[in-house]
Amino acid sequence: MSLKGKTALITGSTSGIGLGIAKGFAEQGINIVMNGFGDANAIESERISLEKHGVKAIYIGADMTKPDEIGAMIKDAEKEFGVIDILVNNAGIQHVAPIEEFPPEKWDDMIAIILSSAFHTTRHALAGMKKAGWGRIINMCSAHGLAASPYKTAYVSAKHGILGFTKTVALEVAQENITCNAICPGYVFTPLVEKQIADTARVRGITEDEVVRDILLAAQWTKKFVTVEQIAGIALFLCSDTAENVTGTDLKIDGGWTAA
Ligand code: NAD
Repeated sequence: MSLKGKTALITGSTSGIGLGIAKGFAEQGINIVMNGFGDANAIESERISLEKHGVKAIYIGADMTKPDEIGAMIKDAEKEFGVIDILVNNAGIQHVAPIEEFPPEKWDDMIAIILSSAFHTTRHALAGMKKAGWGRIINMCSAHGLAASPYKTAYVSAKHGILGFTKTVALEVAQENITCNAICPGYVFTPLVEKQIADTARVRGITEDEVVRDILLAAQWTKKFVTVEQIAGIALFLCSDTAENVTGTDLKIDGGWTAA
């Protein structure tokens, strides 16, 4: 079945992995609901370039820490497109600090953006998918959904949580032609990673080059960063007919990290 004419809402798609998925989807004729923060002109120019693929792209700047804004975003997207066929829960932030120094408000924000927002988007979008008789929910997890690293309590906790959420939703909607899966990337060179290189260097008292060599790519046996295009390819596979029976699982794209 062609994906042309379907609609995808991708949270956190103004940057990095989410934007990469939006581009990969638009190339296949999928309409896009962009979400996330950033410079208004830059977002508008990305939105226009998505439409060069002959799709409709809209931007809704809902804050993923605010359940009311999430509910309104789903409603507005459905008003525009009728149904959200594909929901990608991707928005995320990172903060690196030892637990005693971890700011409680950062913990709350990270759990809200990474974990609770997926609960809110999914609970609102499911009725439309059920009515349409087809749906794909893709949760952006991480190798940190399967294995821990020190100084990332909130991130590792939220990412482990999203895997439990993925499995539970998959079972609840298994007979509705709706799948729910997680993608678990290793390190992808995006603004989120760029920022944590500096933070990790500070916390561990080492240089940024040492962070890349000895920490980030140390775990990645291929010694290569994952690319956003590779993740978009996996997301498209999960939307394909081939993946009809792939549900409640995690697809690792981590250069062998979690195999060791
Ligand atoms: P990024 O910083 O490039 O993009 C994050 C996106 O989330 C941006 O669009 C940002 O505006 C949005 N966002 C942040 N807070 C938000 C909020 N409150 N409401 C709405 N949007 C918000 O980061 P990225 O690397 O592309 O990360 C995307 C996802 O991929 C995250 O869930 C991250 O945990 C996951 N991930 C990233 C890597 C990596 O190495 N980069 C690895 C594994 C998983």
